[in-house]
Amino acid sequence: MGRSKPVTLIAGGAGFIGSHLCLRLLGEGHEVICIDNLQTALPSNLGRLKGRPGFTFVEADIVQPLPEAVTARAGEIGRVYNLACPASPPLYQIDPEHTMLTNVVGTNNLLRLAEKSGARFFLASTSEVYGDPEVHPQQEEYRGWVNCTGPRACYDEGKRAAETLTFDYARTGRAEVRVIRIFNTYGPHMSPDDGRVVSNMLCQAIQGDDITIYGDGTQTRSFCYVSDMVDGFVRLMEAEIDGTEPVNIGNPVELSMQELADEVVRLTGARSRIVYRPLPIDDPRRRRPDIARAKALLDWEPRVPLREGLTQTYHWFAEELGRAERVKAA
Ligand code: UDP
Repeated sequence: MGRSKPVTLIAGGAGFIGSHLCLRLLGEGHEVICIDNLQTALPSNLGRLKGRPGFTFVEADIVQPLPEAVTARAGEIGRVYNLACPASPPLYQIDPEHTMLTNVVGTNNLLRLAEKSGARFFLASTSEVYGDPEVHPQQEEYRGWVNCTGPRACYDEGKRAAETLTFDYARTGRAEVRVIRIFNTYGPHMSPDDGRVVSNMLCQAIQGDDITIYGDGTQTRSFCYVSDMVDGFVRLMEAEIDGTEPVNIGNPVELSMQELADEVVRLTGARSRIVYRPLPIDDPRRRRPDIARAKALLDWEPRVPLREGLTQTYHWFAEELGRAERVKAA
């Protein structure tokens, strides 16, 4: 890959997408330092990383000044990925102030490190920067329709501010940057307690519980399998492009939450009932990425169809929940 410095820092590397990214880079022979405060990370995700050659874990919160264990290695770090932030609405809303600061102060701390190291900086931004979009599908030029006073704002506005900081560092020549806008992503190693729709519905189906649709189920999302997402990350980070534009990465196959629930029932053969619960405030009505830029710049497009990805994820959750049951029974 032609990197001058071999070490990659991944903030949030113990999380769902982060742990997949760590494994991918370790598998390619890179040395990885993972910094994570373990706020939402599944312990087993860290478990499958620890002890691998080239892997170092530092438990720390990026809102605080970065620890010596990281700053002492600034001279070796050639890539900085910032994935650190809870991404599930019920989880990022537990401590909204901390969510906002993670994105603003935390991102700035990592940008400063990238500047000092001369490292390329990667921000994991989000389709949430488009808010409840009036434009469909969402292109990167669309500036979004976000409520800055609502319960989702700590995340949406936090990520928008993180993008602003990142592009300011690029504009002023302080860091070379890449910004990805992640659309809904799912796959093995999500936390069963994550609270998002794919993990909720699959776990409900496996346990024979009611499957919860919020609202009437007509709202849409477009779900990307995690290996496709991580492939987009690496392609964007390593692309020799002018990084001053964000890039959408997501699967453009859009479906309603009713269709997703029906698919989960079909696929799992569950006897669960589908029940309807109140729609959360400011829940976006529709979401689908326009991925023309990712195709043109990175030659990237998703490969894993929803049914295949859901099947893989279902098997993983079934095993994970079975393991938890066995531990409880012991
Ligand atoms: N949702 C649902 N049932 C659930 C969890 C979520 O119907 O058990 C809905 C939620 O209201 C939203 C969509 O599924 O319309 C996606 O929600 P998620 O929290 O997964 O992601 P985000 O809203 O951040 O896109």
